[in-house]
Amino acid sequence: MDLTEILHHLGEYDDPTFRTVSPPIYQSSNFDFKTVKDFRAAMANEEHLPIYTRGANPTVRLLEKKLAALQGTEAALCFGSGSAAVAAAVMNSVSGGDHVICVDYAYSWTKKLLGPFLGKYNVEVTFIDGRDPDSLQKAWKQNTTLLYLESPTSITFECHDIAHFVSEAKKRGVATILDNTYGSLLNHYPVHLGVDMIVHSATKFISGHSDVVGGVVCASAHRISSIFMSEYMTLGATMSPNDAWLLIRSLRTFEIRMRQAEIQAKTISDYLAKHPGVKALHDPFHESHPDHRLALEQFSVRIPMFSFELNTDNKEVVETFCNSLKYIRLAVSWGGYESLLLPATVFPHDLYSVSLMRLYIGLEHSDLLISDFDNAFKNCGLLS
Ligand code: PLP
Repeated sequence: MDLTEILHHLGEYDDPTFRTVSPPIYQSSNFDFKTVKDFRAAMANEEHLPIYTRGANPTVRLLEKKLAALQGTEAALCFGSGSAAVAAAVMNSVSGGDHVICVDYAYSWTKKLLGPFLGKYNVEVTFIDGRDPDSLQKAWKQNTTLLYLESPTSITFECHDIAHFVSEAKKRGVATILDNTYGSLLNHYPVHLGVDMIVHSATKFISGHSDVVGGVVCASAHRISSIFMSEYMTLGATMSPNDAWLLIRSLRTFEIRMRQAEIQAKTISDYLAKHPGVKALHDPFHESHPDHRLALEQFSVRIPMFSFELNTDNKEVVETFCNSLKYIRLAVSWGGYESLLLPATVFPHDLYSVSLMRLYIGLEHSDLLISDFDNAFKNCGLLS
């Protein structure tokens, strides 16, 4: 289906009373029935008919219809956060006694779910180096039921050979989940490769305005039904109708935002690659990156985010650089209109070099962002 048709038309014009241009928000926790017969019929089809908003809500269903079409899957299910979507997809695929393989540098809370959290229920995890195919071969066990992937990875922006991983999992009948939040809905390679479940934090590119926390699992209708009747209804991490409506509104500008961010990202990446104050650039879309070929193969749209290292090991210099930024804000998360910097030095662990920082490039004009960086480099003495 045409992208514009999905973003602006799919599933709309359903209002029975008025022809609203913007879809209504069904801000109701409950739905009633005129007859016992109707009530009974709805109870037998709780997944698809509105009875109670922890289950099916028409506004949330409209968003799900669009997200499934955008990601190219049969169905989708929205959650109150990306982590809730990840947890539902993972828990649907494992039981006590199972073994999971996950790439290292996956999102930190996903690793905590797979490690200490599911460890309490006797689920074992092996973290592998996603750049090394041998690492996967050594990790398989008789009881492996799930391979969890994320490419590119958080903070380090490694790209992995998803096609290879998925085909190895398929040979063994092992389910696959890919966190495609970085890839965004415009990148369809996971569906073509046969990934079983694709998860997104809707908080990021889908929202685009830093005002909603949400998540989605995109998968086959069968898999989504299974998640609905189990993790979705029992754990109750529902998305509110109001948040779903905001995300439907956000989707109107989704393509335009992604295309604009792509242009900005290239300009800023080229600027930092040449800057003497930068020791290393970790941008898979820059030709200097070791995973550049994979990035071009996997993504049709450039991801407006990467990390870089300042040309210093001095924490004070790093802090002066960060504190000097006026427009680029210091914060976690990404995907909104505003550019954000996350310096590794704020983490409570020292996994990364002190001068490493992740940059998300928002919608401000690149001239403004470059002048902000020029000023910060000058203030911290990293001009030459
Ligand atoms: N996946 C990735 C790659 C993320 O970066 C995040 C959050 O930062 C999540 C999942 C979790 O999403 P949420 O914060 O919406 O729960």
